[in-house]
Amino acid sequence: MKIEKICIVGGGTAGWMSAAGLSNKFSDLGISIELVESDKIGTVGVGEATLPHIRYFNNSLGINEKDFMLATRATFKLGIEFCDWGKIGDQYVHPFGDYGIPIDNIEYHHFWLRLLQKGHKSRLCDHSFPVLAAESGKFQHPQGDNNEIGSNFGYAYQFDSGLYAKFLRKYSEARNVIRTEGRVTEVLQNHENGNITSILLEDGSTIEADIFIDCSGFRGLLIEQTLKTGYEDWSNWLPCNKAVAVQCEQEGPSLPYTRATARTAGWQWRIPLQHRTGNGYVYWDKYISDDEATHQLLSTLEGRAITEPKQLFFKTGKRKKLWQKNVIAIGLSGGFMEPLESTSIHLIQEGITSLIELFPDKSFPESDIEEYNRRMNLNFDRVRDFLLLHYVATQRDDSDMWNYFRNMTLPSSLKDKITAWNNRGYLTKYEHGVFHPPSWLAVMAGQNLMPKSYDIRANRIDYNIIKSKLDSIRNDNRIAVKNTPEHASYLQEYGASIVK
Ligand SMILES: Cc1cc2nc3c(=O)[nH]c(=O)nc-3n(C[C@H](O)[C@H](O)[C@H](O)COP(=O)(O)OP(=O)(O)OC[C@H]3O[C@@H](n4cnc5c(N)ncnc54)[C@H](O)[C@@H]3O)c2cc1C
Repeated sequence: MKIEKICIVGGGTAGWMSAAGLSNKFSDLGISIELVESDKIGTVGVGEATLPHIRYFNNSLGINEKDFMLATRATFKLGIEFCDWGKIGDQYVHPFGDYGIPIDNIEYHHFWLRLLQKGHKSRLCDHSFPVLAAESGKFQHPQGDNNEIGSNFGYAYQFDSGLYAKFLRKYSEARNVIRTEGRVTEVLQNHENGNITSILLEDGSTIEADIFIDCSGFRGLLIEQTLKTGYEDWSNWLPCNKAVAVQCEQEGPSLPYTRATARTAGWQWRIPLQHRTGNGYVYWDKYISDDEATHQLLSTLEGRAITEPKQLFFKTGKRKKLWQKNVIAIGLSGGFMEPLESTSIHLIQEGITSLIELFPDKSFPESDIEEYNRRMNLNFDRVRDFLLLHYVATQRDDSDMWNYFRNMTLPSSLKDKITAWNNRGYLTKYEHGVFHPPSWLAVMAGQNLMPKSYDIRANRIDYNIIKSKLDSIRNDNRIAVKNTPEHASYLQEYGASIVK
């Protein structure tokens, strides 16, 4: 009953991450892996900003960070800067790290709220080392001692996703993954149970396998076009449905953070790599034309455009089942939410990790399939709520799009979370889901959604003691940032040559 052959359809980020992850765990167990990709169809060609979890993925593959960064022209990323989301002119950074440290087992932000209510004003951001480091364009690796303020943070990367796929291809081929170039023209199923048995390529060849990983992108060649799994459409909540992307020359030193700027009909990203900057405008076409979106993007670039603008269309949501019969949809074939918090590559990673953990035999136990779908559904739902929070925690009323969000009916999971926060600054903790309480805090406070009160236990400690503790954390952050090198020079020293 053992699975002997895995077939991966698609060679974008999802396909090659799957090939690398699965070959790392299963090649030496006598399971063969073949990946099919079509050069003619190509890949989506975007997806450059990541979350810290990708480091665990690379580590689990035994990849050396320096080799990876050189190969993918990567920069370090400390978080995302959000501009104009609460009100036009607002700015905050969502960092990969906590704010301060709990006092008497009570989360730090309750003390910050208490001081705020007493009129002692300080930006929440000033209580976070990674925010201040990002804002100053500085970076160095955490130095090992987690108790040190300058070491207690996470970081991710900004990289060229095409180069990452190439890098992982080399890794996978070294672990016996067979790569076949060609277009899949037909998919054959077992008449009794509906499982996919083989795929036919344009040149007439056939690939048989026991299990198929659908990494074919938005088209969902196996999961949707063949198995008709169905799509849960989330465009009532996340209605932006198009994007235009362009790369430009980099002006100034490369920065250790991604920027997301809210616009009247969507938002714009800026992702600095070593040698260029990735840019894009995600928009709702009900409120802006393609030409106008392209014009707005091009007119706000910081450097000369070096590629033609590329148009992308999507419908936010996910497949009703990400694992159906003997097909697992990973990547865009499984679903898509806009890249506001760089979550797509992370969801790919979650899919691969869960598949490895629940890897079936040929009987495909229903309980494993259900567990996989349960986990992945939760992961998708949590991301959806977190993205939506950015749109609804707003005071903007300068366009029809913002008015739509201010008046929308929220998913109950998000509504409950916001209510708990509004009442007493409580941050609900979830089973599964990538964003932990500090991330929710960053966005809620950053977009001026302030609670009526805070945890009353914060009143047990003398006001002056709290004030002096918080002042000293802010001060320690400032000193730690002062002693941190510039990101650009750190990158150079780290071995990544910066092309100007
Ligand atoms: C506008 C935008 C911005 C994004 N930004 C980010 C970001 O900053 N961070 C992030 O984490 N994610 C981001 N993403 C998501 C990210 O780009 C994708 O998750 C990632 O690239 C994975 O794509 P994929 O491999 O699933 O699909 P694709 O890249 O589309 O690859 C599909 C593969 O399937 C193959 N294929 C398809 N049909 C056939 C066929 N019939 N025969 C043979 N082969 C076939 C293609 O040749 C290709 O190799 C963004 C997405 C969009 C749309």
